[in-house]
Amino acid sequence: MSSFRPYKAIGANWALLPDGWHQSIRIVVDESGLISEVGSLSDGPTDLSLNIVIPGMVNIHSHAFQRKLAGRTQRFSKPGDDFWSWRTSMYADISELTPVGQFEVASSLFSEFLSNGYTTVCEFQYAHGAVDKENAEIPALMSEALIRAGVKCGIRTLILPVLYQQAGFGSRPATSEQRSFVLNTNVFLGLMDHLLESYSNEPLVSFGYAPHSLRAVEFDAFRDLMDHRKANAPMSPVHIHVSEQVREVNECMLSTGLRPIEWLFRHFKPDSKWCMIHSTHTTKEERDSIIAANVTVGLCPTTEGDLGDGAFPLADFLSKGGQFAIGTDSNVCVSPSEELKFVDYQARILARKRNAFQFGGQVGSGTQLYQKALEGGRSATSLPVGRIEVGSHGDIVELRADHPLSENKSADETLNTYIYSAGKDLIGKVLIGGKMVVNGQI
Ligand SMILES: [Zn+2]
Repeated sequence: MSSFRPYKAIGANWALLPDGWHQSIRIVVDESGLISEVGSLSDGPTDLSLNIVIPGMVNIHSHAFQRKLAGRTQRFSKPGDDFWSWRTSMYADISELTPVGQFEVASSLFSEFLSNGYTTVCEFQYAHGAVDKENAEIPALMSEALIRAGVKCGIRTLILPVLYQQAGFGSRPATSEQRSFVLNTNVFLGLMDHLLESYSNEPLVSFGYAPHSLRAVEFDAFRDLMDHRKANAPMSPVHIHVSEQVREVNECMLSTGLRPIEWLFRHFKPDSKWCMIHSTHTTKEERDSIIAANVTVGLCPTTEGDLGDGAFPLADFLSKGGQFAIGTDSNVCVSPSEELKFVDYQARILARKRNAFQFGGQVGSGTQLYQKALEGGRSATSLPVGRIEVGSHGDIVELRADHPLSENKSADETLNTYIYSAGKDLIGKVLIGGKMVVNGQI
């Protein structure tokens, strides 16, 4: 459900602002969907009254088409079943994907994201279609299918067309199953030019650069990609899969003499616009480099759990000032509350204690994890999202007052109830740029 125009003034019983919870807040959204005032309810009239409002969550990493795999890869197939055997199942699905199929699966998925509380999605788009590689038309249609789905659903969409050129380190040629991912560098840069030119005025859509991984992109092509970014979209984000698997780290060391994150820092200058997806198998020195450069780590907890990837040491990373965001990746799960609960419980189980992040302060662990994930999402998208403050997009999620688990709870307890206990059931209305995209009615 979408309103015809943005609400101008939104009243909230409680609002989670960058410095914490505030009561009786009036939020004004301008014609372009940006927040122009945050003040007191007594400042003026409102045309929409909400209960508790929080900034919508950023989904930092999604492959929409993989939603179709949900429930179909959970049967034991062989000893040592792992990421690589799961990938074979995924390849079978992608080989038949068309622009129409891409639009259908993304439309359904993006609606699910919104009703679960995600208001921005970063699509890491390597499903370029099975095509003549000199013809850029189909790859453009595959990316545009995601754009059309995002606009139709009203979700803010960062499209990251992915450069993927080889099967592994040492220029191993792409396999037949990987053919639909592969574009030569000129065709790929032509695709970036087309998308950047065609959608510069689409308010919900932005673009970023995405070398798939070090195993799939060689140095020369990586450098061409970064040169194109510098010349055409220097403020755009850079996302890359890195260090998800031990095998990948070992192959990188054999091929280059460096671990993947060491290699990235040796050859490029990752900064606050970079997002290193997964970063599961990293050394303390690599994590220190990430923290010093203000790079965001893009964790995808339920996918990493589903695939048995390993655990990122988030509690230690955050205690040293690291920044993280959350993503749904394979879309085995589509809820921000599930991702945050998973990382928290993982830390508790490993530490064998409660509130393992030891945040302290007056609000719950869930609230603090939520706010940290918002800040990582804001940085790693280079978008003014994740905050209810002047100049940010009016992307707002309401937590319901009319749910049994909301009764006699403070705003902070309600957000923690959403994360640990109720999930989607506690989501009320959802607004993007001040426009209602989920009405919150049962
Ligand atoms: Zn991924």
